[in-house]
Amino acid sequence: MKVVIVGASHGGHQSALELLDKYEGADVTIYEKGDFISFLSCGMQLFLEDKVTDVDDVRNFRPEDIEKRGGKVKAQHEVLTFDATKKEVTVKNLATDDVFVDTYDKLILSSGVTPAALPVVGTELENVFFMRGRAWALKIKEKLENKDVKNVVVIGSGYIGVEAAEVFAEAGKKVTIIDMIDDVLGNYLDKELTDILAPVFEKNGVALELGAKITGLTGDTAVTGVETSNGTIAADLVIVAAGVTPNTAWLKGLVDLEERGQIKVDDYLRTSAKDVYAVGDAILPLNLASQTHTPVALASTARREARYVVRNIENNVPTEKFRGVLGTSALTVFGYKFAMTGLNNFSAARSDVKIAGHFFKDTLRPTFVKNDGNTDIFVKLNFDETTHKILGGQVMSTYDVTAQINTLALAITAGMTLEELAEADFFFQPGLDRQWSMLNLAAQAALGETK
Ligand code: FAD
Repeated sequence: MKVVIVGASHGGHQSALELLDKYEGADVTIYEKGDFISFLSCGMQLFLEDKVTDVDDVRNFRPEDIEKRGGKVKAQHEVLTFDATKKEVTVKNLATDDVFVDTYDKLILSSGVTPAALPVVGTELENVFFMRGRAWALKIKEKLENKDVKNVVVIGSGYIGVEAAEVFAEAGKKVTIIDMIDDVLGNYLDKELTDILAPVFEKNGVALELGAKITGLTGDTAVTGVETSNGTIAADLVIVAAGVTPNTAWLKGLVDLEERGQIKVDDYLRTSAKDVYAVGDAILPLNLASQTHTPVALASTARREARYVVRNIENNVPTEKFRGVLGTSALTVFGYKFAMTGLNNFSAARSDVKIAGHFFKDTLRPTFVKNDGNTDIFVKLNFDETTHKILGGQVMSTYDVTAQINTLALAITAGMTLEELAEADFFFQPGLDRQWSMLNLAAQAALGETK
């Protein structure tokens, strides 16, 4: 079986690993248009905070990792188009400008996304940056260390924007996050949790300009300010982290695309072209909790999809559908550690799913344990009001309770109800948790059985 993979990031990497592991003698080639193979943007904050060995170590894999398993990895090779009838890809070697044709039995697209530019004037000004990929990581690092950069404006209060804000605040810069939504991280966490976090940002020197519409960027050659519906904010550097554009312009007319440019896939992650599959940020996966297709830009999602595709790639009509994902994810910010899975108020409304929710606050350990190390924990459970089926949730604390969200994700995947979670057999050890585990307690509270 000869497989061509487009894109050497999470989806492409996982596809290659699975193919080379599962199919003896598989002929696998990854084409990647970038010149550096598989920079790990997920590790960018660690790099910016000087917590990694070297920028070139922040990667998913080195070409030789795949080559020693028998695969081929071609950097600076852009796939320009494909012909599904002839089963050919046309590829341009960006180093030499040579264009050649390669053949495939199966084609896997993991072409990902690019940060979206703001639809306002001034985006071409100097010092308007994005936060994705190695080249931007190096440019951001230079600005972090540059004493002339005093005012940093981050546009977008999602995970990436928050990571950028924390890094610059810790470097002593004056940071402002601007977003049109009303709550920082409001697309990921419900209001009970964002209300706890908002003052933490302010306390750590990050101003929040929320519910603000950006009307333009100002400056002659370099950016000097961001104009918003609430006034102008001074900026020596602007980090734009407000959405993404799928890398699919080259696929127009080759495969069916969604309204916003993502690659349309069926229940088996097949595109509209025969023997062409798509995974990763460039598709809209099924959300297990809402049973709708929504954007989930996560490496973990891309890898699950790739594993599924490769497992079924030999069958023209696979027997098992891709189950879907929950968008389970986590982040730390200014000492707080939080994680979410499934539906929250934002994503439920977007998918037109009615949810009920319950917010639970407690201490990590029994009350007789002294305050140091006995911090507050917060749990939000979202569920179907009638059936009590769990549909989503969030956990947060200054102690690391994020792994609890994986348990909750399993509960959702298994179709569990609040009643079942309330009695699930979790351990107790007073040095580690409560007589009942925090998820038991949160479910009991949601049922109105405890406080
Ligand atoms: P991408 O990573 O977008 O890569 C696509 C690749 O395809 C690119 O290298 C591109 O050059 C190449 N390509 C595109 N078109 C062509 C073509 N025509 N020919 C050849 N090559 C092509 N996710 C998590 O799960 N956890 C995290 O902690 C996390 N942190 C993140 C932090 C940051 C700052 C960012 C930006 C993202 C983070 N993510 C995280 C998201 C994660 O990086 C993405 O979900 C993941 O990279 C998606 O992988 P992908 O394979 O779909 O595509």
